[in-house]
Amino acid sequence: NSEKIIAEFETHLAKNNLQNEVKVVKTGCFGLCAKGPIIVVYPEGAMYTMVTVEDVKEITEEHLLKGRIVKRLLHNDTHEDGTSKSLENVDFFSRQMRIALRNCGVINPEDITEYIAYDGYKALGKVLTELKPEEVIDIIKRSGLRGRGGGGFPTGLKWEFAAKQPGGQKYVCCNADEGDPGAFMDRSVLEGDPHSVIEAMAIAGYAIGADQGYVYIRAEYPIAVKRLQIAIEQAKEYGLLGKNIFGTDFSFDLEIRLGAGAFVCGEETALMTSIEGHRGEPRPRPPFPAVKGLWGKPTILNNVETYANIPQIILKGPEWFASIGTEKSKGTKVFAVGGKINNTGLVEIPMGTTLREVIYDIGGGIPNGKKFKAAQTGGPSGGCIPASHLDTPIDYDSLIQLGSMMGSGGLIIMDEDNCMVDIAKFFLEFTVDESCGKCPPCRIGTKRMLEILERITEGKGEEGDIEKLELLAKNIKASALCGLGQTAPNPILSTLRYFKDEYIAHVKDKK
Ligand code: SF4
Repeated sequence: NSEKIIAEFETHLAKNNLQNEVKVVKTGCFGLCAKGPIIVVYPEGAMYTMVTVEDVKEITEEHLLKGRIVKRLLHNDTHEDGTSKSLENVDFFSRQMRIALRNCGVINPEDITEYIAYDGYKALGKVLTELKPEEVIDIIKRSGLRGRGGGGFPTGLKWEFAAKQPGGQKYVCCNADEGDPGAFMDRSVLEGDPHSVIEAMAIAGYAIGADQGYVYIRAEYPIAVKRLQIAIEQAKEYGLLGKNIFGTDFSFDLEIRLGAGAFVCGEETALMTSIEGHRGEPRPRPPFPAVKGLWGKPTILNNVETYANIPQIILKGPEWFASIGTEKSKGTKVFAVGGKINNTGLVEIPMGTTLREVIYDIGGGIPNGKKFKAAQTGGPSGGCIPASHLDTPIDYDSLIQLGSMMGSGGLIIMDEDNCMVDIAKFFLEFTVDESCGKCPPCRIGTKRMLEILERITEGKGEEGDIEKLELLAKNIKASALCGLGQTAPNPILSTLRYFKDEYIAHVKDKK
């Protein structure tokens, strides 16, 4: 649809002799998915939402030709006089802080010059010409950046482990195998700002002494793959990838590897096994990838969002980044907000923002006047947070205390009509399907849990089923080989913790 709208604009601009005065820029996603397609007209910053091909003629003739804003298409966040607020003042955006998403919806991701115009590759230039590798690592450590893929491991520490390994071949990897149901943060960054990841991976390569990187991305993201490929080629043309970058003796090359859609390949050791060309199964740790990763060589693996923060940290300094967020969780986090919420989309908030702010102030609340029941964070590895914890500041540690986890950033909102046992079953079905089968606790245990849940939801639950479910969940958590199995019981444990009455009602009432 957006492509058709762009073509229609070009036709109408030509018809009205505006083609030399107005430039149509195709950007990545703005984040406000519920209201797309979105067009922002500068310099006014008028934000038109849910635009159709038929609307283009009016926008061209009224706004672009006569300077009259088309009020009926304006995003409803307007000033009293009816004019649109600039993007930073629209409620959906004003409470956000866009670091990882800074260029999404702003630049044309297929044009490297636009990224460069927004300070792109300046951080790489600074690193290569002014800083020693250990100084780069020190900056990342002092920033407090932790992995945005789920685990929350300190990024600088990971880089330091790899840098300290004896010389020789080392690798930098990017995990873009985003597979959680409801999560699309990494996809948006790659579709909207692929150079930020390329630049960060080159910086990581310099910091640890690697000259080769791989982006492992799921094949189900064709636009992200295409834009990343274009970005890599343009970076090579501009001498920002390849040999002697910025005239230094640092060389770094980058290749894409496509994932075939197995959720377990998002687990770091399985991902590397898959890049090596084998079946994507996890390996026991230690040894950790920083010591023995790809082809047995020291390797760092970070996810897309983690990398997207790096250039800004280098340019603005670790103190700036560390001043955002909470004591142990610095910076911002991107969430893909979906489910029973008005403004579905992508939001980036400072760590420490409460769930209430995300759901009501940014998300616009629950549709149809329904009551909020729970928020599910962390996808199939996470848990459900009930209304009594709406005012908890979101950070790594507070979510774990609540029995959930940050995960990569999926945030699914449930209202009073959702059955929490069904929600737990939905996520468990997903993990049963995605278990690689290597270890029995996950291969067999998750199936047994699902059988019990199916009995309960079909009204055939028996006395003792809930206790059995809880016991199995705890044992699988303690004994599964990789993160997929260790966290698979979380949706069950957290719904048992906050919504046990719903399980009991199913068993008692046989419904
Ligand atoms: Fe495979 Fe599950 Fe064991 Fe992980 S926990 S290795 S996904 S069977």
